[in-house]
Amino acid sequence: MTDTAVSYDPDNIFAKILRGEIPCNKVFENEHALAFHDINPQAPVHVLVIPKGEYVSPEDFTARASDAEIAGFMRAVGETARQLGLTANGYRLLANHGPDSRQEVAHLHVHITGGRDLGRLLE
Ligand code: IMP
Repeated sequence: MTDTAVSYDPDNIFAKILRGEIPCNKVFENEHALAFHDINPQAPVHVLVIPKGEYVSPEDFTARASDAEIAGFMRAVGETARQLGLTANGYRLLANHGPDSRQEVAHLHVHITGGRDLGRLLE
């Protein structure tokens, strides 16, 4: 089985956003993470939070990132949800990785969706 954890493509679209080569609609940024609106929203609020480092998956991130990067990323998730006004009614976090999840962009990202009743994830 091929381990996709280390096959980071520096030309993926989120890497280009981080380098400022293509624009994004930014919501929040700290030293270690960036949050921006998804270009194809699946809910009234749909934001992506990405680490600034070159990581493709949660297992890659937790294996190679510093504690400060991991903390900064999780703080960005929480701060973004707060800034979007989602904390009263709630929201969903989702992260795809690998072919079974149909991950499209091979740079670690967490989707934050909310702004309506999202239904049950698992029926
Ligand atoms: P994945 O399927 O979990 O990899 O999700 C990738 C997400 O990135 C999708 O929801 C896309 O709509 C989103 N996306 C792709 N390109 C851009 C962009 O340039 N700006 C913002 N979101 C993007």
